[in-house]
Amino acid sequence: MQKQSTHKSTSKTPRQPESLPESLPESQPQNLSDRDLLKRMQLLVQRERSLVTEILHHLREVERRKLYSDLGYKSLFDYAVKELGYSEGQAGRRIQAMRLLRDLPQEEAKELEKKIEDGSLNLTNICQAQSFFNEVKKASPDQPLLAKDKLDVLKELEHKSSRQGQAALMEKRQDAGLDVSLPKEKTRILSGEHSELRLVLNKELLAELEEVRALLGQKAMGMSWAELIGEMAALSKEALKDKRFGKRREKATPSTPAPFKEGVKKATGPKPRSISKGKRSRVWERDGGACVKCGGQQGLQVDHIVPVARGGGCEEENLRLLCFGCNVREGVKEFGLERMKRGDMSQRGDMSPSPPGSRRTTI
Ligand SMILES: [Zn+2]
Repeated sequence: MQKQSTHKSTSKTPRQPESLPESLPESQPQNLSDRDLLKRMQLLVQRERSLVTEILHHLREVERRKLYSDLGYKSLFDYAVKELGYSEGQAGRRIQAMRLLRDLPQEEAKELEKKIEDGSLNLTNICQAQSFFNEVKKASPDQPLLAKDKLDVLKELEHKSSRQGQAALMEKRQDAGLDVSLPKEKTRILSGEHSELRLVLNKELLAELEEVRALLGQKAMGMSWAELIGEMAALSKEALKDKRFGKRREKATPSTPAPFKEGVKKATGPKPRSISKGKRSRVWERDGGACVKCGGQQGLQVDHIVPVARGGGCEEENLRLLCFGCNVREGVKEFGLERMKRGDMSQRGDMSPSPPGSRRTTI
């Protein structure tokens, strides 16, 4: 009969978790005593948590530099899922937590970090709290929650499961007078072709949609909601293109000479911003209505390839479509992070607003 190994470790010198060897055979879980196994477990989880805060700091810096753009991703979320291999949920939680840390003053952020590291707050609850803070901000933009209020809310979520956290936040929503009864908008991918879109309309909007249906005439009467939305999308697209590029956008207008077309250009002073609507439209068409770096279609801007401040002109060959993230990244590469932070974005050239209806990806 084999000698039974007991978990009596009286003969051994007590080990501190920090001094447990990492790679020696005896540190293989199956070789550890019960006591050491539990200690080591604690130690590993502790390390995992401090790694999380470190990851959040790095994520923040990647976002600040818009580095994901260099890799062809249109958002930090896209990068976190496709490059780092996180699931959508994992990526979302980390990004939300990072944004909460970013938005808090330094001292409060430190406090939150401590709570992540000692395990009293989990990422799911932090993420739920951040959504709540965003809802409050959206409902009353003039009275956003103060850092102190946020910490109070977070305090109530300590040592709670995600479900308990959800329930606690639901109460807070009610207290804050937020609408709690309506389900959130949701997009669910059903197949490569189809997605299910769940949204809640108020009765005014519903009536307006019915009015549009009536205006479309007979052909719209039997349309499903999806067909009606399709019809409306086509119409709005035309109207928006007209608004953005002018009605006669198909006619190429001869480009007017830019003020600084010749000679040595100054890096300061007024910038030639005369990109005609026709030219914008042609750049838009040429680049396929998408960012030339990442293929994103949101927050698009017409960018000068050679920046205006470096003498770049407004000829079509020097123009391209970039999304906001890629444009900022190009600016960072060209002028450095500090200068971009000071708001010298315009140095890169035209920072015209996104087409109406488009939104910047914020996740
Ligand atoms: Zn892009």
